[in-house]
Amino acid sequence: MTVEEITVKELSRIAEAVQASTTMAIDTLFKQMKAEGMDVIGFGAGEPDFNTPDAIKAAGIAAIEHNDTRYTPATGTLELRQAVCDRLQMDFGLTYAPNQVAVTNGAKHAVYAALRALINPGDEVILPAPFWVSYLELIKIMGGVPVVVSASEGEDFKISAEKLEAAITSKTKALILNNPSNPTGMVYTREELQALAKVCVKHEIYVVADEIYCNLLYDGASFTSFPTLGEDVKDLTLLINGVSKSYAMTGWRMGYVCTGAHIAKLIANYLSHSTGSPSAITQKAALAALTGPQDEVETMRQAFEARRDYIVKRMNQIPGVSCLKPQGAFYVMMNLEKLLGKTVHSVEIHSGDDFAKVFLEQGLVAVVPGAGFGAPNFVRWSYATSMENITAGLDRLGRFLEGI
Ligand code: PMP
Ligand code: GLU
Repeated sequence: MTVEEITVKELSRIAEAVQASTTMAIDTLFKQMKAEGMDVIGFGAGEPDFNTPDAIKAAGIAAIEHNDTRYTPATGTLELRQAVCDRLQMDFGLTYAPNQVAVTNGAKHAVYAALRALINPGDEVILPAPFWVSYLELIKIMGGVPVVVSASEGEDFKISAEKLEAAITSKTKALILNNPSNPTGMVYTREELQALAKVCVKHEIYVVADEIYCNLLYDGASFTSFPTLGEDVKDLTLLINGVSKSYAMTGWRMGYVCTGAHIAKLIANYLSHSTGSPSAITQKAALAALTGPQDEVETMRQAFEARRDYIVKRMNQIPGVSCLKPQGAFYVMMNLEKLLGKTVHSVEIHSGDDFAKVFLEQGLVAVVPGAGFGAPNFVRWSYATSMENITAGLDRLGRFLEGI
């Protein structure tokens, strides 16, 4: 049989429908341009530019030296799952038992595993927009139907309980709630979360609560972890978190999901046939991250806050663009509405895609177009990069838009 004959057969319809991650694509393109020697500055991928703290790296090295290099239980070692429980108890007063925790290969994989356990084909999943790119595709991968509920910049990019309720049908299975939000950096208040939670409890809707940015809050904003809102809320919650953002460990690949014991068991069964187990070495490093001193988390948070202050102030001084001041995560959404229909460096701008392309090719700055986040007239800047890069990037933006 020739290759041509084989490919005539229909491949997975679900796989064919999946779009590649825009955030990953921009990052790859940026790295490629950089490798080719181009003087490009990247604000694409949301990953801390800090190195993993030394004590965590040492724990990873020690794991290799002590031959902690074998399979572990599918959901991670008991000591790591206990450490996750202890961290959640200490930080938020949340009580989970180790059999309610599944450690996964990154938080993205935790979202994947959570949706695997919840979704039957045709189930609707409510997705507030702007949303992180992967949620939409993950819902589709599960055979679910994304129901996008948009929140405008005027609404601080946050959905209300009324909007949530209006989107619910008899097919609604779950809501994905990312707080603080990627890509907007917005943070829901306790009252706003309570109002959303009330609707979810009333309609018995599961909530995939992605709190990966829980340690990155600014202006003294307080964070409410969704399952703390009541036992009935906790019963419906699949809490997602991980070490990637808080401890600058994106490449180690460790995330987790905490939920009721039955759902956790379904996830465990699925993991046992897919990943087998998370990396044993990474688990030892993550254990050190969760149980060790937390002062580096705060040091990095402060650096992000200073960068946010700078980027927001300068962006709002540049004619033609603007942004809200986010209270969390490390992203800003730059509003391009005033540029729409205008010609920028010979290119007529109709969307964030047009802008991101010309800004990269001619301005040599990589930002992520908002279409993948459900916000076509915006581009996302990640300020998880050095102050030097941020200053140079904004200088370039100012020059790029001069006279427009
Ligand atoms: N959730 C959100 C909201 C994110 O921004 C990210 C960033 N990649 C993830 C999950 C996934 O994190 P991880 O790198 O641990 O897979
Ligand atoms: N979450 C980060 C981002 O939004 C990393 C890339 C990804 O996993 O999508 O840029």
